[in-house]
Amino acid sequence: MSSNSRTVSEARVAPASPGAEGRKVLRVHRGRPTSDGAGVRLNRVIGAPGLPDLDPFLLLDEFRSDQRDDYLAGFPSHPHRGFETVTYMLAGRMRHGDNQGNVGLLQPGSVQWMTAGRGIVHSEMPEQEDGLMWGFQLWVNLPARDKMTAPRYQDIAPELLPEVTEANGARVKVIAGRHGDAVGPVSAVATEPVYLDVRIPAGETVTLPLPREHTAFAYLFEGSATIGQNEENVGRGEIAVLDTGDSLTLRAGTDPASLIVVAGRKLEEPVARYGPFVMNTEQEIHQALLDFQSGRLG
Ligand code: FE
Repeated sequence: MSSNSRTVSEARVAPASPGAEGRKVLRVHRGRPTSDGAGVRLNRVIGAPGLPDLDPFLLLDEFRSDQRDDYLAGFPSHPHRGFETVTYMLAGRMRHGDNQGNVGLLQPGSVQWMTAGRGIVHSEMPEQEDGLMWGFQLWVNLPARDKMTAPRYQDIAPELLPEVTEANGARVKVIAGRHGDAVGPVSAVATEPVYLDVRIPAGETVTLPLPREHTAFAYLFEGSATIGQNEENVGRGEIAVLDTGDSLTLRAGTDPASLIVVAGRKLEEPVARYGPFVMNTEQEIHQALLDFQSGRLG
């Protein structure tokens, strides 16, 4: 009878109706130092052993250095197919160019949301020889039906990102999705993403509504914070992977806290991944390699 009672008891504590529910932290993971491109030093948060992916997110890097040798070599010409790359610059300047003649300058506070689709071959090179280079690159998977879509760039200048200031001084900048009345400028992305830059004064709290079923995480890049209903302490360079729920509560520690909070709809499709190609099957990866080698990619 004890197992029966236990079931009843669990049923009692479960919410009677699906009301608003704050998210909890499932796990905290620290990114690991690595290098990519022609030798750019970075912190790989998603996309390395320990957290190889987080459907629909395939990779998250933070690059941050004021040592020119850490970034000067940049990311010379390389291909992508089957997903989206999102670059968000905090400091420094990066020149983007592809083999179709598209060029762009990523400045502090700007965002490039690039849908690689069926393929691009591009470079991402520092446009500075000293000073701080700081930002993030996120890879967002595309559903099977969109993997071979035409490439698309959304280059968003800093002044186009709306920012909400809460009564306690917390600021939420909206890159994608919404917060209050502010709607992020990124459009028509298959995974219906939310991407927020959140700055919280020391000791203050902010609550962010999030789509209930979306995969979501918070990555802390300055200060420290207590995250979620289970009040996990998270430090600089750590990612909190979140349970499902309608909102996320963040409280800054004794210093101001800065985080990115990102959410996206799960794709729940097979992932075949080989370097800069992310498809659904090995056959499609093989085709991507053939297309790249024969100059038919991008
Ligand atoms: Fe790239």
